[in-house]
Amino acid sequence: MRLNWQEERRAVLEAAQRMAALGLVVGTSGNVSMRVDVDSDERELMAITPSGIEYDILNTEDILVTDMDIEPVEGCGVPSSEAMLHAEIYRHRRDVGAVMHAHSAFATAVAVAGLDILPIIDEMVLTVGGDVKVAEYAFPSSEALATNVRKALGGRNAALMRNHGVVGVGADLREALKVCELVEHAARVMVYASMLGGATSLPSDVLEAEMAVFEMRRESLEG
Ligand code: 13P
Ligand code: ZN
Repeated sequence: MRLNWQEERRAVLEAAQRMAALGLVVGTSGNVSMRVDVDSDERELMAITPSGIEYDILNTEDILVTDMDIEPVEGCGVPSSEAMLHAEIYRHRRDVGAVMHAHSAFATAVAVAGLDILPIIDEMVLTVGGDVKVAEYAFPSSEALATNVRKALGGRNAALMRNHGVVGVGADLREALKVCELVEHAARVMVYASMLGGATSLPSDVLEAEMAVFEMRRESLEG
């Protein structure tokens, strides 16, 4: 049987397995999605990982396609319990084509401490859009969590989830993965720098110039 959205579902599968291989999640935690073309009814759709399935046994047909109200369109499993969070981001960010939620250790440690990740390294500004804000705590999979994370994200490409983990977004899956990897790296650098006496932000003029580049690209993606 030919699967619909086969290429997109394979791409989501590969990104999820890459996320797991990089150690950005523990066990079955985390989830990945990408926007797919609207259907004949003009509904906005996403392809998303199923809930609670081990990454190494995941197949292309396990990836589900739903609309932004999490109504099933293709596939017969249970979509990720954080599907509402993914949909909330797609609804508010036209420039976002892929969303990744991870539980990587250093990003989670900073989120548990209730801190933002400061803009401490240049790549953070160009790739993430400056600092990474920590969203107020809300119960996993809840609508409140989706709202809090969307607000903390703003126009940036990453947000921390208080006492939980991290969300990275991008124009495509490659970028969302790159963002999650970079946030984990920056969180680790911030923790180490704090142990050495303090993590300091980039100079403000550099921050401003790099932010202008980030914003320009985001606006161009919004179309
Ligand atoms: P799912 O397995 O339902 O995607 O949930 C994992 C998770 O990280 C919940 O926050
Ligand atoms: Zn989670």
